[in-house]
This record gives sequence, structure tokens and C-alpha cells, in this order.
Amino acid sequence: MLHKKIIFFFSLLVVSNFGASQNQKNIPEGYFKNPLDIELKLSGTFGELRSNHFHSGLDIKTNQRTGLKVYATASGYVSRIKIERYGYGKAIYITHPNGYTSVYAHLDKLSPRIEEYLKKRQYDNETYEIQLFPTDLELRVDQGEVVAFSGNSGGSGGPHLHFEIRDSAARPINPMMMGINVPDTKKPLVKQVMAYPLDENATINGKNEPTLLRLIPLKTGGFKTEKLNAYGTIGIGVNTSDRQNGGNNQNGVYQIKTSFNGTPNFEICFDTYAFSETRYLNQMIDYEFFKEKKSRISKLFIPPGSPLSLYGNSINDGKLSLYEPGSNSSYHIEIKDYQNNTSKIVVDIINDEPPTELLAPDNDGLEYVSHSTTFNSKMGKFNLTIPKGALYEDQLLEIKENLDTITIHRDIVPLHKNFILEYDISSKAGDNLDQYYIARITSWGAAYHVNTKRNGNKLTAYSKIMGTYAITKDDKKPTIKPINFKNKQWISKNKTLKLSIADKDSGIDGYRATVNGKFILMEYDYKTGIIKHDFSDNVVTDSENHLKVIVTDNAGNSTTFEATFFRKI
Ligand SMILES: [Zn+2]
Repeated sequence: MLHKKIIFFFSLLVVSNFGASQNQKNIPEGYFKNPLDIELKLSGTFGELRSNHFHSGLDIKTNQRTGLKVYATASGYVSRIKIERYGYGKAIYITHPNGYTSVYAHLDKLSPRIEEYLKKRQYDNETYEIQLFPTDLELRVDQGEVVAFSGNSGGSGGPHLHFEIRDSAARPINPMMMGINVPDTKKPLVKQVMAYPLDENATINGKNEPTLLRLIPLKTGGFKTEKLNAYGTIGIGVNTSDRQNGGNNQNGVYQIKTSFNGTPNFEICFDTYAFSETRYLNQMIDYEFFKEKKSRISKLFIPPGSPLSLYGNSINDGKLSLYEPGSNSSYHIEIKDYQNNTSKIVVDIINDEPPTELLAPDNDGLEYVSHSTTFNSKMGKFNLTIPKGALYEDQLLEIKENLDTITIHRDIVPLHKNFILEYDISSKAGDNLDQYYIARITSWGAAYHVNTKRNGNKLTAYSKIMGTYAITKDDKKPTIKPINFKNKQWISKNKTLKLSIADKDSGIDGYRATVNGKFILMEYDYKTGIIKHDFSDNVVTDSENHLKVIVTDNAGNSTTFEATFFRKI
């Protein structure tokens, strides 16, 4: 009997951790070690819902500091070094003998040996932003070796280490499944539950519109929602997050499962996915609600055509069919974090009568745009193309033009591919046409430069964000200001040379600095607008030095700054 019980218990474990056991099968315990030597606290979990993507790793807190030692999680070799202004900032990739790769991003510096390898190539190529692919013989590392120092570079919103593990097919894998464990005894938070009518006949409490359901906490620790009257095909969505011990950050959950009248009907599990799937997040969440309320509701049903491999088995794609007026249905949501702490929500549904009349939506002035064909519209001087497959579903869009401005609906409809916006600029002949570009105008009036190409009299820009676009001119030069030195000054004690660069309209495109005619490497942090040279590069070797910095904006305007400084040699 005891024997039987053990087998039963064991098989349950295998079933509930099916994804994990599959991926872990060749990874021995302890193969991957913590990349930091402090207690792991997370400001981001794997699969967490972010802007246009699922988070592909763990964000490990670094006590609000930069400069913490980052250790190789396992032995291997540095297979890629990527230094970019945005995104991951300074990042290294280590490939391990089992074919897996670990990634360390937003770094401040690399270890001296790797930093030297990088700097040589940055100087050879005269660029800060660079991507390198060292061979397996160049930069071998042992498990536990210091490979870098943590930082806040690139698109990081505060000091932390972004840590990833990717399998041999370059799919990111939840590092928790690889034994990177973070203590967690707190249940996932349940913040909002929404019910969605999924066709024009469906009703939620008598209306054909998404409806938030009031959450009622239960003594048992779970929740129920207020009673829901519904008819037709509907779906449910939930806004949830999870906190680990030792931190109050609201991170992503691991798994959500639902059942309808006792039968499991939907599952999503954040174990692994392909980078090519990541933008489908915008279809997986209630995008309009996110844009309007800044909170992300995960739909607990599979949107048409979604290729997301995060979804598990489902019945009717997780949708609920309620076509028997008067009967009762029960819907259960179970949300888990990686340590199996579970929050449950019960949604009791009374199957409603069908609606007596259809509420015809007001479609006046709206353009019907199919997701399966290419849409093209010529309006005034604009030519708008929304390619086939850019929309996830057919939409009614409001598109209007007024001289140099075009409004393409609002940013409440997600796009998977760029639309193409062209503009005939021939009426501006006589001006410096290079200074013109297409800008996205936000609802609060800010103008963002959109990468614009000019071919003769045609401006072309690409964007995945709906909304208002305007033809804009930038004839103002960038500004350059020294920060830690003055012209003709002795600065022998300075470890660095720092300048602040800015451009009001189209933004900084590039910069180049030389001392006595020789290229000097300057690292650029776009968040602070600071470019910085490190004198320990040992390229500034004279006592009298003529610095020249040229900065160009995205509209081709450029500024040159010159100064002389002295250093004891
Ligand atoms: Zn991250």
C-alpha cells in the first residue's frame, strides 16, 4: 500500500512538472550556479509580461548598486559580446559544453581579460557599439569565474543583472527550471478578472462588452467573483502577479490553469518559448485595456492564429460556450508561482437568455481593414500601407489626414508588423529636405522621431504603433557640454573625460571623439546623455591634448566641440 502511494505521488509530480522534467533531463543538479554571490532577489521573472515581449530571463536585484561581481554560471566559453546603446547595453553570452548558453546583460564592465579583448576591437573598429563572436578557444571561462561586473547599461531602469539561459535551439528557458532557485512562500496576487464577449451575440451581464468582475476574497484564502450572467461564447482574463520572499517587486507568475464545469480547458505555462513568438504577447493580453489603464490582463483563451508555445492543452481554445439559458456553470482559475504557491478564483456563471435585439455598432467613417490582405490608402500627400499579417484580426479603423498630419486610429490596436507611411515632400522644395522626418505625436503632444528614409521627394517611415504622425523639421544642432573639465585645464587626476550631449528634436544619431587626431573610445549612456572616456585605455599619452567631439542628430545636423586639456605624463 505504502509502495502504491509513493508511486502515485511520484507520477503526480511528473505530470505537474512535465515541462520542467523534459528540459531538465540532461542537466545535472547544480550544473548552473547563481551568477551573483548575494541572496537572489528578483525584480523580474521569466515570461513576465513586458512591453511588446515576454521577459526572457531573471532580473536579479543588485542592492541598488552597480559593480557587483558576476560569475560564470557554468564553465564554457564567451561566445558573444554585444555592446549596444539600447536594449541589453553591455552583454556577454557564455556557451556551455551541453549546448546551452547563459546571458548576462546591463553590465557595467567585463572582467579585465574580456574587457581587454573587447576594447582592442572597439579601438580597431573605432566604435563603442559592437558585436563580437569569439571562437571556443579565445575566452574560456570556468564555473564561478568572475566574468563581469553588474551595471545599469542599455535599456535598464535601475541597477540589476539580467540573467538568461537559452537551450541549443536558442530558446530562452526559465532559469528556475535549471536549478536557479529563489525562496518564495507567497501566493500570486489576483488583481482583476475580466469577462469578454467573443462574438456579437454574446452578452456579459446583458451587454456585449468586456466587463470587470468584482473580486470577493474568501475565508479559505482564494477568491470568487460576483455572479456573472452570460450568454454565448465568452472568455475570461486575469491580471495577476507574484512576489518572492525578500522583495516586494510584482513579478510574473509561472502557470495559469482553468477548468470549466470540472473539466480542464486552458493552460499557459512560462517554461520556454521562441524569441520569434515574443511579440504575440500583445495578442495574448487585452492590449486596449493595457493601453488605456496601464494594467495587463492575460486572456485565458487562445486568440485566433496565435502560435504561442506557452499554451498547453485546451478545449475550445479555453473559450466558454453558454447556450443553455437557466443553467449554471462554474469556472475555476488556478494561478501558480514556480514554488507551487497557488491562488484560486471561482467564477459562478448563470447562463443567460439570448439577447432580444442586436446592438448594431456605430461604424460611421471607419475603414474596414482585413488582417489577411494588404491595405493601402492614399490620402493627401500620404500613402499608408498596412501589410497582410500586420493586424491580428480584422479591424474597423479610423484614418484621417490633414495636410502634414495623419492619424491612423489610436494605439489601442496591436500590430505584429510595421505599417509603411510615405509622404510626398515636393511642396517643401527649396528647404533642406534632409532636415525633415516623420514623427509620432503622442496624445500629450510629445513628438518622437521615427526612423525616416528620404528617396528624392519621398519620405518613408515604418512603425508598429498606431496613432498620429506628422511631418516635422529639425534644423537645430545637437548640444555638447564638458562635465568634468574646462578648456585649457590641467586634469591629471581625472580618471575619465565626461561630456553631456543632447538633441531636442530628432535625437542623437552618432558621435565621434578624437584626441590629437587619434580616435578615443567614449561610452554613451543615452539615459543620462553622457559620453565618457576612460583614461586607463592609455590612448591619451601626451601632456597637451586637443579634444574634438562631433555629434550628429537624426536629421543630419551636427555640432563640433573642441577643447584643450593637459595631463602630467
Ligand atoms: Zn531583464
